[in-house]
Amino acid sequence: DQARQPDYLSGLNPEQREAVETLDGPVLVLAGAGTGKTRVLTTRIAHILATGRAFPSQILAVTFTNKAAREMKERIGHLVGGQVEGMPWLGTFHSIGVKLLRRHAELVGLSSDFTILDTDDVVRLIKQLIQAEGIDDKRWPAKQFAAMIDGWKNKGLDPAQIPEGDARAFANGKGRELYTAYQNRLKSLNACDFGDLLLHPIRMFRANPDVLRDYHQKFRYILVDEYQDTNTAQYMWLRLLAQRPASAGGKNEPVNLCCVGDDDQSIYGWRGAEVDNILRFEKDFPGAKVIKLERNYRSTEHILGAAGHLIAHNEGRLGKTLFTDRTDPDDEKVVVHAAWDSEEEARAVGEEIERLQRGDATGRKHNLNDMAILVRASFQMREFEDRFVTLGLNYRVIGGPRFYERLEIRDAMAYFRLVCQPADDLAFERIVNTPKRGLGDTTIRTLHDYARARDIPMLAAAADIIETDELKPKARKALFDVVADFRRWQGLLENTPHTELAEQILDESGYTAMWQNDKSAEAPGRLENLKELIRSMEAFESLRGFLEHVSLVMDAEQNEDLDAVSIMTLHSAKGLEFDTVFLPGWEEGLFPHQRALDEGGRAGLEEERRLAYVGITRAKRRCHLWFVSNRRIHGLWQSTMPSRFLDELPPMHVEVAEVDTSYGGYGRGGYGQSRFDKAEPFTNSYSTPGWKRAQQNRTDATRDNWGTRSGHAVERIGYGESGPRGRTIEGE
Ligand code: ATP
Ligand code: MG
Repeated sequence: DQARQPDYLSGLNPEQREAVETLDGPVLVLAGAGTGKTRVLTTRIAHILATGRAFPSQILAVTFTNKAAREMKERIGHLVGGQVEGMPWLGTFHSIGVKLLRRHAELVGLSSDFTILDTDDVVRLIKQLIQAEGIDDKRWPAKQFAAMIDGWKNKGLDPAQIPEGDARAFANGKGRELYTAYQNRLKSLNACDFGDLLLHPIRMFRANPDVLRDYHQKFRYILVDEYQDTNTAQYMWLRLLAQRPASAGGKNEPVNLCCVGDDDQSIYGWRGAEVDNILRFEKDFPGAKVIKLERNYRSTEHILGAAGHLIAHNEGRLGKTLFTDRTDPDDEKVVVHAAWDSEEEARAVGEEIERLQRGDATGRKHNLNDMAILVRASFQMREFEDRFVTLGLNYRVIGGPRFYERLEIRDAMAYFRLVCQPADDLAFERIVNTPKRGLGDTTIRTLHDYARARDIPMLAAAADIIETDELKPKARKALFDVVADFRRWQGLLENTPHTELAEQILDESGYTAMWQNDKSAEAPGRLENLKELIRSMEAFESLRGFLEHVSLVMDAEQNEDLDAVSIMTLHSAKGLEFDTVFLPGWEEGLFPHQRALDEGGRAGLEEERRLAYVGITRAKRRCHLWFVSNRRIHGLWQSTMPSRFLDELPPMHVEVAEVDTSYGGYGRGGYGQSRFDKAEPFTNSYSTPGWKRAQQNRTDATRDNWGTRSGHAVERIGYGESGPRGRTIEGE
């Protein structure tokens, strides 16, 4: 019956096929990197559709990033032939959460046009609450409390549920009170934060079993990728949707849930992910079929060997076998490079990229699209960006703080938000005096009090207050103009093309002029960004649609057609693959990151090692690791030690690049002439100019160099992905 089997099944190995074809009951695919887990999910959806078991709208599929969701949709299309008409419930936990919430907002006390606050908004709001309580916000920073709330929400905890100790840990026992006040304030703003995008649906389902039942009937199949990185709240959400109550006859309906994951790639523990969710799967979903995949289709034997040997240093693994038959005598070993500092590191990586572009040893020319630089912390990106700009090499930054987070973009967005959503007080406060209109703190405070006393949004309060004599004439006139502007723009919202309106808003508000008159070096760039912002709106039908998009998406403005090197953090590289992968910055303190060691101890170190495993296993054919002996962070030189992870690589699969001293650097044509000697312990083969490895001092040295956590510099090099967009409504 081979002949009759659909095309999309024919390429699968028997275990993959089993995972695709076992459609009834819970299935867990637990398997290492590159074994085809994502491919199994994609094919499974294709199979469900092709066999007519469900319509696209009856499949709930969760990916870790929006990008992954788009790619999956595309691939499903290819598999079943032609466009998949709408897979409305294929997306990240957050994007699916938004969708549920827009439908049922009123059940949790919001209206369907609620605003999604980003981290900046959240911090500003919390700061107000802290100050309103008369708490010293220098001593108890809003940012810290924002992180605490986020942590509670990841665990699915409402104010009443947070542990007593947690509640006491902030502002002398005011933690719970502030969390409650925060939630109330969000409600009155008709807003929610990222955590609420999951928690509100959970609350809504619990309080409304009939609504939950509708979704039980609706979602015939549920699929989850990167299952190892779900946090408690996500897990609760998933269980609510997947576990159906016994039907009238007392027989449980099958849970058609398929999760795929790899415990060795769990890298979001610091953000509340619970790898234990994998271990609990069989318990929570009795009768689950657990399928293991062992054949890796992605990487060469050297790359797999290096990654496997490294991750074997972790304890508490489920343990998996991985093999490949992709072996070729010409396969390159994993190459370790040394550089003097990060500038040289970037220069050498740039040269290697250009060399591959011109043609490798076999004469094959490589596309930039097939190469990626994966950094541990986002601050490492700048050096590469600078270098590539100099070289004229195209690159794209994936994830991380980018375009939509720039000051001028956020200001402009605040204008647009307020036009669409007049109750958005945070947007109002952001721009009411930007550009300067003579509306000082006193005026804003008066306005704030006026609004609070009447429980109305600030823009509405402004419209009221200008009819009174509460304000000084000058402020009153300025506010009068602001109110008139917004009324006019709101009037134009429905019938003016949105790009035109957006441009008009920026011009008439004086915002564009503010940057035109600004003499600073950044001003021209900011004006360009504003132009780019308007340009990027063209793809949308309305201003509202665009705002929604921006709040959801982090990597949308990338030009997918351009041949370009990808630069991203290791965290955002999850699930991706590239022919050639460059992994810079393998130094103690940076990787493993000192903060992970300080805060996580052994578990922190193991998570760092998993991150290293994720990094290496992104490579299909070539993997280059780098370490530098000096790193400058915000102007301060630090001398560094090679990462302990380098010691943990197996000599069999690794070589050390020859140092090319002719220009004081490394790299060019260097590898292939390894001076790595198999007879010696691997650790002895690293050396850099002017510095010899002194392994016995490592711990102390590391602490001196990186362990001081007082400075802003060290704080900032934190996890590259912890920023607002890193949180990924995507994601991440
Ligand atoms: P990760 O853990 O990194 O997310 P994964 O297990 O999801 O990896 P995939 O990305 O699905 O792995 O697959 C890795 C690569 O192997 C992809 O290029 C995929 O197309 C390919 N692949 C998977 N299964 C097969 C197969 N049966 N035949 C040929 N290629 C395959
Ligand atoms: Mg995958």
